[in-house]
Amino acid sequence: LPAAYAQSQESVWVEYVKLAMAYKPLNIGQGFPDFAAPKYVTDALADVANSDNALFQQYTRGFGHPRLINALSKLYSPLVGREIDPPNEILVTSGAYEALFSTIMGHVDKGDEVIIIEPFFDCYEPMVIAAGGVPKFIPLKQTKSNVNGIGSSADWTLDPKELEGLFNKKTKAIIVNTPNNPLGKVFEQNELEIIANLCKKWNVLCISDEVYEWMVYKPKKHIRIATLPDMWERTITIGSAGKTFSVTGWKTGWAYGPANLMYNLQMVHQNCVYTCNTPMQEAVARGFEYELTRLGQDECYFVSLPRELEVKRDYMIKFLTEAGMKPIIPEGGYFIMADFAPLLPRCDLSKETDPYVDYKFTKWMSKNIGLQGIPSTAFYSVPHKPQYENFVRYCFIKEDANLQKAADILLKWT
Ligand code: PMP
Ligand code: GLN
Repeated sequence: LPAAYAQSQESVWVEYVKLAMAYKPLNIGQGFPDFAAPKYVTDALADVANSDNALFQQYTRGFGHPRLINALSKLYSPLVGREIDPPNEILVTSGAYEALFSTIMGHVDKGDEVIIIEPFFDCYEPMVIAAGGVPKFIPLKQTKSNVNGIGSSADWTLDPKELEGLFNKKTKAIIVNTPNNPLGKVFEQNELEIIANLCKKWNVLCISDEVYEWMVYKPKKHIRIATLPDMWERTITIGSAGKTFSVTGWKTGWAYGPANLMYNLQMVHQNCVYTCNTPMQEAVARGFEYELTRLGQDECYFVSLPRELEVKRDYMIKFLTEAGMKPIIPEGGYFIMADFAPLLPRCDLSKETDPYVDYKFTKWMSKNIGLQGIPSTAFYSVPHKPQYENFVRYCFIKEDANLQKAADILLKWT
């Protein structure tokens, strides 16, 4: 491997997909819905596949299918309070993953520092390193103890002084993920203001990963950092159709921001995939056009999905607690981090060889109890992993019947 990838190891996804295939546990680890996407979205794809318009099966515009960038502009312009110019201020990517990659590769140079808030979606770190950058980590810290064994992601906060201490002349960017994966924290206005003010003071780019923007539970509200004063100019915001329409296999995402910054992403994208697949983009565009007619209404998917998810979240919190774990209630996203330490006396981890106990626990659970979670240290830098190795991450965007099965498996065992 060339130097840029020399430090790379198989990601937790590569490893745990293999594990799931080998042992076939009930998989509430990796984040994807196990139920159908909205029918009008999958119907749109079928329609596109069978369309008389042969061009739907051919290359579309490299930086984004025209119908999709126009729909994205219609959706986001009112949300960010400015008219987004579709061809120059939006890029369609191969999932939010590629949006992150193009943003990081397009801006980070050798020796540039990038601030990453922990726990973080695991690909940020290798992407920064691949660009020659230096990741600088700051963990969210739990500032209140659990009540009756249950915590809240709202109690996990950044220390403003510690954050300030990370900014310097070498700082190129900060990556903010709200709602956060894996913790589910939804950043408050005042927290985003602290970040924004430091970005402005040090002329730093803000990379805002907002793939869970619609999965926010009352009374919390999703705030786009690009809407804070003078932040549009320095923010790239990233979204995902996979999360938005429950079609993670479609791997269609986007980034939006000011044209001068977007140009840098366009160059990376052009020299990597050049263009994303046309049928998915056309279908996603039609999905957005439909939702735009009922935005904010009860039946709008962006309203109904979080309403349904909140019930699933509360059910999972209940059975994890009953099983003896100490979960953190997420304010957004579709994951729960839970402290499994009270269950350790029931496990025989002696055959597991991983360095961190969460890897041992989750692998042992997959093999012996038939339930798969994701180890939380995958979302932490090496120096901070030991402090968080008692957490497992579970995903609750699953059929009620499967959540019930997960509960049965856990409660039968404990
Ligand atoms: N960012 C976060 C925080 C995620 O959880 C995911 C999910 N995989 C991604 C980015 C990537 O999204 P996509 O599947 O659209 O590539
Ligand atoms: N975002 C999903 C998760 O966090 C899927 C990640 C992946 O498969 N790379 O579980």
